[in-house]
Amino acid sequence: MTPAASDAYYNPLLNEIVFPAGILQPPAFDLAATDAVNYGAIGVVIGHEISHGFDDQGAKFDAQGRLENWWTAADLAEFRRRGQCVVEQFDGYFIEPGLHHNGKLVLGEAIGDFAGARIAYRALQRAQQGRPRPPTIDGLTPDQQFFVSWGQFRGDAIRMETQRLMIQGDPHPIARFRVIGPLSNMVEFEKAFSCPARSPMTRPVRCEVW
Ligand SMILES: [Zn+2]
Repeated sequence: MTPAASDAYYNPLLNEIVFPAGILQPPAFDLAATDAVNYGAIGVVIGHEISHGFDDQGAKFDAQGRLENWWTAADLAEFRRRGQCVVEQFDGYFIEPGLHHNGKLVLGEAIGDFAGARIAYRALQRAQQGRPRPPTIDGLTPDQQFFVSWGQFRGDAIRMETQRLMIQGDPHPIARFRVIGPLSNMVEFEKAFSCPARSPMTRPVRCEVW
């Protein structure tokens, strides 16, 4: 990656996560923004990359970057079982009538977003412990700022032609579902926005991976 790239990666061979300067600026990271906004954007990205070390591919490498299984059979089986919930969730996301995501294809990235959102949310709660409650901004509480920030960073507009191509071969879900997917699994989102039961952002079956 070049320093200007707005991207990030996890490399299992070096057991490293990398964030070029290009992504360490708004809307992913802003020194002038609240903690909630930064945790909701770059915080989720960092958690996402860390989780790649434990996903279906990264889990095959040990801490020294050797291709060696270090998981117990029980943990691996449970990880796969929980992942199946996410597979079915994304199988259910349609980009147009008759055409939906391939849950298996996007599983690693979908779990990454989900794990990133959960760990960044927990990190934000911990960072706020013992400190005065941060102010509401533009009518948004800190928890709401966190979730809106992920939507503002991750969401983008993609032409339908590109979406059709993406769902066939790109391991990343379409941006819209990278926002809706993980956040609709989080009861914290539902609480933050007081979502009524059975509203679009509450799922009858919530997935739980990490
Ligand atoms: Zn990823």
